[in-house]
Amino acid sequence: MDGCLFCKIIAGEIPSAKVYEDDCMYAFRDINPQAPTHILVVPKEHIPSMDGVTAENSAVVAKIFEMIPKIAADEGLTGGYRVISNCGPDACQTVKHLHFHILGGRQMADRMA
Ligand code: 5GP
Ligand code: ZN
Repeated sequence: MDGCLFCKIIAGEIPSAKVYEDDCMYAFRDINPQAPTHILVVPKEHIPSMDGVTAENSAVVAKIFEMIPKIAADEGLTGGYRVISNCGPDACQTVKHLHFHILGGRQMADRMA
């Protein structure tokens, strides 16, 4: 989608630190990490947010959720990790392309918000 930062990253027009890629998803390191490990996993298809998940495109979300534990294991997150998707202004979503944050490598706060 024109003007979408993550679509440009997926297309290689903006450099990123790739962690994993296949035909339907791309995973890369967050530019402003909030934990020792902070990875973003995005569908290659432009879906604006969780609100854009439908019966037609939810298969990619399922595939992302199959891959997240493998990425976490490859990153050595043996103590656990947190997965977050911010949706909309109340959740402070800043990039309007569906993405899942994987956060780990330290003890997380027990409150999420
Ligand atoms: P959100 O706030 O929408 O849930 O998350 C967007 C995330 O994208 C933020 O954690 C932010 O640091 C990250 N981000 C923004 N711009 C870039 C970029 O150009 N490259 C990378 N790798 N991450 C970015
Ligand atoms: Zn996009």
